Amino acid sequence: MLKWIKYYLNKLQSPKYILKGKCNKCGRCCRNIIFYAYGVPIKNEEVFEELKLKNKRMNLFYPSGKNEYGEILFTCKSLLPNNRCKHYFFRSLYCRKYPMVKSLTTGRYLTPPEECGYTIEPEKQFKDYI
Ligand code: SF4
Ligand code: SF4
Repeated sequence: MLKWIKYYLNKLQSPKYILKGKCNKCGRCCRNIIFYAYGVPIKNEEVFEELKLKNKRMNLFYPSGKNEYGEILFTCKSLLPNNRCKHYFFRSLYCRKYPMVKSLTTGRYLTPPEECGYTIEPEKQFKDYI
């Protein structure tokens, strides 16, 4: 019970964030994504297969490269060459809310990639508090 009270008090007091900008349809959020398993980026096929068994949605992604750290990059099979989504009307809630989504690992809002037309900013700036 105390845990829940603490959780809601924390939620009420924590700063609110808003989304600014607009989508430039670059498709970056659907390609070359790094997925995490057990708190670390996926680096081999075995871990990806395990993840697919736990979460069927992972079947939507295929390995599309590797970065300089050996982390595997994944791309969504629904992404069309023109950067549009083949299943736009049936896309997941996560895709609908992106980039206003929180990391499952840290619980914090993700940082949109450089190419993204959106930014996530605190509702109130420092000057608003003084
Ligand atoms: S389902 Fe569509 S919006 Fe979601 S990651 Fe795939 S291509 Fe992108
Ligand atoms: S990365 Fe940002 S701008 Fe690019 S398609 Fe995704 S939401 Fe739109």
